[in-house]
Amino acid sequence: MIFAKQAMLSTGWAQNVRLTVNSGAITAVDSEQTSQPGDVIVDTLLPALANLHSHSFQRAMAGMTEYRMAGKDSFWTWRDLMYRFTAHLTPEHIEAIAAFVFLEMQEAGYASVGEFHYIHHQPGGTPYDDLGELSTRIAAAAAITGIGLTHLPVLYTYGGAGQAELEPGQARFGNSVDRFNELVVCAQKAVSKLPADCRVGIAPHSLRATSPDDLAAVLRAHSNGPIHIHIAEQPKEVVDIFAWLGARPVEWLLENVDVTNDWCLIHATHMTPGETHDMAKSGAVAGLCPITEANLGDGPFNGPPYIEAGGAFGIGSDSNVLISLTEELRTLEYSQRLRDVARNVMVVGEGSVGEVLYTSAARGGAQALGREAGEIAVGQLADLVAIDSADPALCALQTHQLLDGLAFAAKDRIVTDVWSAGRHAVKGGRHIQRDQIVDGYRSAMQSLMASL
Ligand SMILES: [Zn+2]
Repeated sequence: MIFAKQAMLSTGWAQNVRLTVNSGAITAVDSEQTSQPGDVIVDTLLPALANLHSHSFQRAMAGMTEYRMAGKDSFWTWRDLMYRFTAHLTPEHIEAIAAFVFLEMQEAGYASVGEFHYIHHQPGGTPYDDLGELSTRIAAAAAITGIGLTHLPVLYTYGGAGQAELEPGQARFGNSVDRFNELVVCAQKAVSKLPADCRVGIAPHSLRATSPDDLAAVLRAHSNGPIHIHIAEQPKEVVDIFAWLGARPVEWLLENVDVTNDWCLIHATHMTPGETHDMAKSGAVAGLCPITEANLGDGPFNGPPYIEAGGAFGIGSDSNVLISLTEELRTLEYSQRLRDVARNVMVVGEGSVGEVLYTSAARGGAQALGREAGEIAVGQLADLVAIDSADPALCALQTHQLLDGLAFAAKDRIVTDVWSAGRHAVKGGRHIQRDQIVDGYRSAMQSLMASL
């Protein structure tokens, strides 16, 4: 049982809440209780967010790509560096990095992750003896950390719009539709050894890395979600897709594919007002990655018209250049304020910006990962985070202001405890496997640096 002095329930804030958790799910929620011997006692309990978009291996290159080269740096030059980096990663590196990244996510307050996994093969492109070797490594990282994993094997067949051949740097990603289908079976086998809340979805990488026929074939083979796709991160991507398919990426997808609430469109950054409206009405989740989108110079999301049309969204840490839930939320809102020269933008009508950002991202993130979570209520997975309202960043705030404090005034140190489907992985602000996982990461980095 968990006892919280206060908790944000699906019905709003409540005091002195006792929560019963069985087999990973919340089976009873009672307020105005007293704690009982044996209860885990926390200060303020919230539904924990899903981190809906991660490429865990990219964490290991954080800080390596911030050197200006003769004034021509762009997303595309960053991508070239990332490709060169991936050539050095072994399965052992990939597992150690993922374990460390998942630990950092949990310590930042996330209960689950959508791992958009696209390194599948050996350097040069030859498959491992076990086609699912690297999916197995990601599953092992989820097992040691206890994070709720939605594993998203990526279909990556072409090097660019118009079915261009893969570039050498993309060889580790490449699969035909048939081999991708085999890979998904391997991934399902690996994830079947994890707790029941973990699952496998699919991720056609982007319109530029597939073709209309291949996309249709993959969607026929995997009709169950979640389905994630990078959609419109960069203006060049929009231009290339328009030149090839005669429509902008979001426009093309909505017109040619049955986009439902099983879908998550990552980086729906460059949209016209019409695309923004239509995507909001589709029921799909906008996968927003504010820190990475700022780091890569992608541009701001069309927030106000999207939420006015009822669009769902969630938060992802994508390149993992920095893993901070509080900073993702504030970067999202600040990107809107800077563009619009306005304050308190991501709310329709009146309300607390922090609360709307947090609760919307909790619901949208859970939807995107196919988890029955996002709220504290009976029947939901026990994806929970406890924060300390006595932290100096929060101690002057009233309960209804706490999520504004979390989003705009606090650091991730306010997180004291995290449960992923009832697995209590963070206690006192520290992951229970921290020493072992950090040691493994350090030695993997030593071996990686020696190879660069
Ligand atoms: Zn991504």
